[in-house]
Amino acid sequence: MSRSAENFLLGMDRQELVSLLERAGEPPYRADQILKAVYQQRIDSIAAISTLPQQLRAKFLEDQLSIGLPKIENRFVSADGTIRYLIGFQDGQSVETVWMPEGDGGEAGDGTEAGEPSGNGSRPWDRATICVSSQVGCAVDCQFCLTALLGVKRNLTAGEIVGQVLAVLNDRHVSPPQDRVNLVFMGMGEPFLNYDNFMKAVRLLVGEVGIPESRMTVSTAGIVPRIHDFGKEPVRPKLAISLNASNDDVRSRLMPINRKWNLEMLIAAARDFPLRNRERITFEYVLLSGVNDEVVHAQQVAALLGGLRSKVNLIALNPGPGIDFFTPGTDRVSAFQSVLMKAGIPAFVRRPRGRDIYAACGQLKRTVEIATSPAQ
Ligand code: SAH
Repeated sequence: MSRSAENFLLGMDRQELVSLLERAGEPPYRADQILKAVYQQRIDSIAAISTLPQQLRAKFLEDQLSIGLPKIENRFVSADGTIRYLIGFQDGQSVETVWMPEGDGGEAGDGTEAGEPSGNGSRPWDRATICVSSQVGCAVDCQFCLTALLGVKRNLTAGEIVGQVLAVLNDRHVSPPQDRVNLVFMGMGEPFLNYDNFMKAVRLLVGEVGIPESRMTVSTAGIVPRIHDFGKEPVRPKLAISLNASNDDVRSRLMPINRKWNLEMLIAAARDFPLRNRERITFEYVLLSGVNDEVVHAQQVAALLGGLRSKVNLIALNPGPGIDFFTPGTDRVSAFQSVLMKAGIPAFVRRPRGRDIYAACGQLKRTVEIATSPAQ
């Protein structure tokens, strides 16, 4: 039987908990006890919330309430320290969430499992990034992306978005804000096509889990009206835009969404976007050999972004089955980067993470094939 978000404490904010408690004849301070148990202690069963009176726990259970923490169904560890989690929800759907440790020992190869405390008691990483999914599948249909091949199954609830983070933090024994965790909403799905649930998740992650908004980045394929809304949010992650092409011809071919909101509209929205102190918009650019990786394309990107407070992250295509594009050589990637740099646009080459376990960008759809194969 499917259960809706109202059955789960995870995903509720303080106000929703206060009214739930009011209906149960309980004082509002119990909301704070629940918030702490769910979002900070990451307890996974109501029976185990020891700060609540026994009879209230029993009543919640009678009312078919549960916390609703999603389950880790599978884990794949890469040689570079990246861990790809398959995370399952109550209705049987699942998404992928990726853990990427950085810094001292973040790269595996010292014989210890990534993320486990090492012998001297210090952690083998000094910061880590969690890549979070926003939908089961995706409707945007970018031609180089494996998730697109799934189509969109459904939106995730706010609780399911937050739940991915909590499940991974539990598994890694990590506690923000003491531990430095960054979030990127760049997993499966288009966050701006699930805008309200995504934004509610952000508020819970900032306010209750304790991860600062400055350590979060959301990436959009370019849902222009939502970029405008996002700029008005009092609490919001940093913005990244998947550019991936330097002119409308190429972009419409690679990303059909460009036929609805073209480059002119997209760049206008970026120029309008109210940036905070020292903030920049990130433009992601997946390099596809012979398609969008010529010097002339780099010059067009430089012209598009001129005068914008921006930076460009270049990603050489992560290839995959069913994807009819090729990865350019490193010389092409460097040539593209230097055109941008010479034009005064900061440009970085992103190194792929977890390619051996299909955790790199665009590769998340391989879950089914890999999860059903016996080797791990
Ligand atoms: N829907 C959002 C977030 C998910 S995609 C968006 O489009 O931004 C996250 C990033 O992965 C995007 O910048 C996308 O262009 C990139 N990406 C997708 N498939 C890729 C592939 N095969 N190789 C490299 N990057 C890819």
